[in-house]
Amino acid sequence: MELIRSPDRFRDALELARAGRQVVGFVPTLGDLHEGHARLIRTAREECGVVAVSVFVNPLQFESAADLAAYPRRLERDQAMASSIGADVVFAPAEEDMFSGGRPEVTVDPGPLGDRFEGDARPGHFRGVLTVVAKLFGLAAPCRAYFGEKDAQQLRLVRAMVGDLSLPVAVVACPTVRKVDGLAVSSRNARLSSEERRAASVLFEALSTAAALVRRGEGRADVLKAEMARRIGAESLARLDYVAVVDDRTWEEPAILDGPARALVAARFGQTRLIDNLLLPWADGSTVHNSGDS
Ligand code: AMP
Repeated sequence: MELIRSPDRFRDALELARAGRQVVGFVPTLGDLHEGHARLIRTAREECGVVAVSVFVNPLQFESAADLAAYPRRLERDQAMASSIGADVVFAPAEEDMFSGGRPEVTVDPGPLGDRFEGDARPGHFRGVLTVVAKLFGLAAPCRAYFGEKDAQQLRLVRAMVGDLSLPVAVVACPTVRKVDGLAVSSRNARLSSEERRAASVLFEALSTAAALVRRGEGRADVLKAEMARRIGAESLARLDYVAVVDDRTWEEPAILDGPARALVAARFGQTRLIDNLLLPWADGSTVHNSGDS
């Protein structure tokens, strides 16, 4: 496994791999690798000749300097983990090597979806994410790029960017890795107290309840949202930020489900803000969905 610091050197290494007719698998991360990242790296390993993992704590996607400074940086451990599950390259650039002067002059506009849900809670977040992902794609593409469904809005926006800007990248979505109680694995989970950690499973319970209702024929988004909010509201350690049900393709919010939809939740547990989502069951016309007049 090779550790690369320089963007030019990273580009050259992947160009060499492609010249040898290898497909490049690319896994962008902020580091502090966990089982969720491991799933992406393993999937890339199965599908690609060379696997590159980037570890870059992207300053553009953090709202506060304190948050950015507090983000765990554990490169040696990340390298060991990435290597043990089959990565060939870890790309860990310094901030000043990514953008001269530390900040880019030109950024990627995420469009209207960039201001909703996570973008509403974290202004400028998706502009920062897409700008750095575009830069990383500029170095790593043509490639297959692996993203987690855990961050479904990010995944949706990366797909839109790749499509709208015709970037030579095949985006591959990997399912969310969860703990046994359903909590999505996240670097942020380490910040939870033991009581908050126990309480945090309410997010997956709420999502699962929405899925169960849909399976029984419920199609009214308001009913699904109210039930998710009620569940999360019943947990005294949770402070609800939002619940939503979106069309999985357009990310518009349907009043009545009329195709594959995704439930979204965000809540705080103490100082820690967690998000999760679940694709709701949809069986092409075979499910009876309430039209709202029942
Ligand atoms: P991050 O380092 O938090 O930017 O995450 C890097 C990638 O790992 C993103 O594509 C995330 O969606 C993905 N990821 C994070 N947590 C999980 C998880 N629990 N399951 C699957 N993928 C995840």
